[in-house]
Amino acid sequence: MRIRREPEIQVKTAQQIALMRAAGLVVARALTAAAGAVGPGVSTADLDAVADEEIRAAGAVPSFKGYHGFPATICASVNDEIVHGIPRADRKLRSGDVVSIDCGAIVEGWHADAALTVGVGAISEELTRLIAACEQALWHGLAQARAGARLSDISCAVERSARASASNSASASNSASASNSASASNSASASNSASGGYGIVEDYVGHGIGSEMHMDPPVPNQGMPGRGPVLAEGMALAIEPLLVLGRPDTVLLDDGWTVVSADGTWAAHFEHTVAITADGPWVLTAPDGGRGWFSRLAEPTADSAGGLADSASRPQV
Ligand code: MG
Ligand code: MG
Repeated sequence: MRIRREPEIQVKTAQQIALMRAAGLVVARALTAAAGAVGPGVSTADLDAVADEEIRAAGAVPSFKGYHGFPATICASVNDEIVHGIPRADRKLRSGDVVSIDCGAIVEGWHADAALTVGVGAISEELTRLIAACEQALWHGLAQARAGARLSDISCAVERSARASASNSASASNSASASNSASASNSASASNSASGGYGIVEDYVGHGIGSEMHMDPPVPNQGMPGRGPVLAEGMALAIEPLLVLGRPDTVLLDDGWTVVSADGTWAAHFEHTVAITADGPWVLTAPDGGRGWFSRLAEPTADSAGGLADSASRPQV
């Protein structure tokens, strides 16, 4: 007989969470700087240099560089690359592309990890909606990162949000698709989006985080609510939905890192590191701690919205 154990989830002290917050703010600055440098003709290696400089200027250490041999400070994944793309000087961005930038930093041994996706120049309506859906799904998941919730409450919230966005998007694209047909990206993805729904990638998921970047528990981006370990104050998670316009199946390229969609459709990836506190979820990689997004979400945080922001009781770093 096999005894199935719940994964051990590291519980941090307030001081350790404060160091993760310091790392989170460095990651936020690095991502903002790298995203701000995105433009036609810019290479993914250029973005890596921008993020690397920002992290080192803060006296922090990039988490990714050397991680299982990964050669760079960021992952830069373009178009049909879903995650773990390696920055390259010869990978120049073009108008209409989408690029996902993923970045981690370490402060005094404590990690933070976040990612975002941005368009290069003008992008199609379809891609704009995909990116917005992915970011919104992340925030619905983050809102569930509270003491007493079960881990899969996060997964369920991410999935529900992504599926709701997809059905809204399907109705919007039916009325607007004619005007977008000139875009190169639309020609590759039109058949998939027409069939309804974004693909929610299953092969790559979120994770616990703290004294290491990747820790227990895995945090899937879909599932039934009310399952898995009970969340408690002092835990920290990296939640990271990955959505594609088509099927969620992935292929690992020969470089051993880059993950692409099997059907060639384009992807979006958003991630934040969140700490579970007595006052609710504290998004360590968002400069405002998540206050702005949580107040915009209609549900289910309205009953405790006042406790979600950075409060005086939290360690200031
Ligand atoms: Mg990441
Ligand atoms: Mg991560």
